[in-house]
Amino acid sequence: MSTLFLRTLRENPADAELPGHQLLVRAGYVRRVAPGIYTWLPLGMKVLGKVEGIIREEMDRIGSQEVRFPALLPREPYEATGRWTEYGDSLFRLKDRKDADMMLGPTHEEMFCLAVKDMYSSYKDLPLSLYQVQNKYRDEARPRAGILRGREFIMKDSYSFDIDQAGLQKAYDAHREAYIRIFNRLGFEYVIVHADSGAMGGSASEEFLAVNENGEDTFVRDEHGYAANVEAVVVPQAAPVEVTAGAAHVEDTPDTPTIETLVAALNRDHARTDGREWTGADTLKNVLVMLVHPDGTREPLAIGLPGDREVDAKRLEVKVAPAEVEPFEEKDFAAYPMLAKGYIGPGVLGSEQSSTIRYLLDPSIAQGSAWVTGADEHGKHVIDLVHGRDFTADGTIQAGEIRAGDVSPDGTGTLKLARGIEMGHIFQLGTKYAEALGLKVLDENGKLVTVTMGSYGVGVTRAVGVIAEDNNDQYGLIWPREIAPADVHVVVASKDESVFVRAEEIVRGLEAQDVEVLYDDRPKVSPGVKFKDAELMGVPTILVIGKGLADGKVEIKDRRSGERREVPVDEAVAQLVAEVAAS
Ligand code: ATP
Ligand code: MG
Repeated sequence: MSTLFLRTLRENPADAELPGHQLLVRAGYVRRVAPGIYTWLPLGMKVLGKVEGIIREEMDRIGSQEVRFPALLPREPYEATGRWTEYGDSLFRLKDRKDADMMLGPTHEEMFCLAVKDMYSSYKDLPLSLYQVQNKYRDEARPRAGILRGREFIMKDSYSFDIDQAGLQKAYDAHREAYIRIFNRLGFEYVIVHADSGAMGGSASEEFLAVNENGEDTFVRDEHGYAANVEAVVVPQAAPVEVTAGAAHVEDTPDTPTIETLVAALNRDHARTDGREWTGADTLKNVLVMLVHPDGTREPLAIGLPGDREVDAKRLEVKVAPAEVEPFEEKDFAAYPMLAKGYIGPGVLGSEQSSTIRYLLDPSIAQGSAWVTGADEHGKHVIDLVHGRDFTADGTIQAGEIRAGDVSPDGTGTLKLARGIEMGHIFQLGTKYAEALGLKVLDENGKLVTVTMGSYGVGVTRAVGVIAEDNNDQYGLIWPREIAPADVHVVVASKDESVFVRAEEIVRGLEAQDVEVLYDDRPKVSPGVKFKDAELMGVPTILVIGKGLADGKVEIKDRRSGERREVPVDEAVAQLVAEVAAS
């Protein structure tokens, strides 16, 4: 440590909110360069190397082969698949000196696909699985929590190539197993959830989420083992119900632009006859948003859903991708004078209606059900408007919020909600990219067939961040042994030359038996500072060599439990070797 490139900090960096992020900076693992862009210092490189090592081992085990594509890429392949445009503002685009369009790769489906097309032409060449560990670049709208959401980050991405669906399924299953082994070894709690395949296209898809209350993803679970990202929850279409409501009637409901004010006014002025009170769930709320398509065209969209539910921004986002969602603003209302803000109803919504705005309903809205909804006039609502009898829509959309207590999609369980951080994503891409880029091989009968692909990612730098979030206390980081920058942190708590000599012997003894040592040999630093640094840096075992040496004793401390024990100095090496081997 007397030569290690390190400066530990006692204070939390101003821009770091999450404890793991704060500690990674304070303990000298990473340093911020710009939002979402980080430098990895020597200790950080050690940890990163361990994580990459685990991933490489498990990828090699399933027969995937490591390659490395450039991060700096030409435009053309991404133009061919539409992603040069579809990636929108998230793509870092640049020009070379000849004015050619270049980009920094946000993900590499195109490059892998083209490489295989270049080199292979027969079914005999398949199956094939390739991976890389490479920097990715995404101009994230909200870089967050340091390395958890970077604009430059490291991803392990792999791709499988098969002749048919059965092959793809096999490759997918192998990856799933590899990911289970990887995430078990990385040492954080995770769940495997059904995922939305989103802009990538394709079908079967699962995510590995680290369970973390600060996560940006929300997932649901039920008591029968169903688990899904909320983005992927499919609310079943409500079965038609018999119409029991009388004719729809428009009523004055002044000053009721919100569901809350509407429900209060209904109960005050238009009490129900069946004795129960009106609630938000009796109302049909119509939410307007503006979709911005990759080519820049703007298209308004209306979503009708029960008034006690919000539109879930993330669910909506993945349903309309690659279009982006923007708020419907005053100027937009001005362009559609038939929209009475606060009192918008199905009377004007829909491609066949006066606004021509596409109108999609939440699937919970049954044919035959009756609603209170806007009458398209200020201060007026319509009661008993029946879906299918009095209004129709252009279709349905899975964008309503999912709440704890909702029934699971298969109707048998009850959903619970929790937060997570996406650590890995596996999905069956199918032929989307192979088709766009012309990746075909000859099959057994000499017929050209399109190769079917799988795509699989792990956030490598994000994994370091999540491990740090999950493994710390008030004093600092506590690395799981397999990830730690060293096995043993040797602290010399003395200024006495002879103690250093003895400590060095022990360090050499440990290293001779493949124990990785971080040796605090700083001659002029006080024991107190050394102890603090050791706790902050988080090596799992700390060996203190100090005063006790006079009596032939040294102290072994377990960083996680805080347990200390004195051992005879002559046994220190053997005991530490055994401890490292056992854990
Ligand atoms: P997110 O929803 O968190 O933005 P994503 O769906 O964009 O993730 P993928 O494109 O599937 O992620 O990328 C594969 C993996 O790369 C993710 O599972 C995640 O672990 C990691 N990853 C994605 N974006 C980032 C980022 N900005 N910083 C660090 N890691 C990331
Ligand atoms: Mg993303």
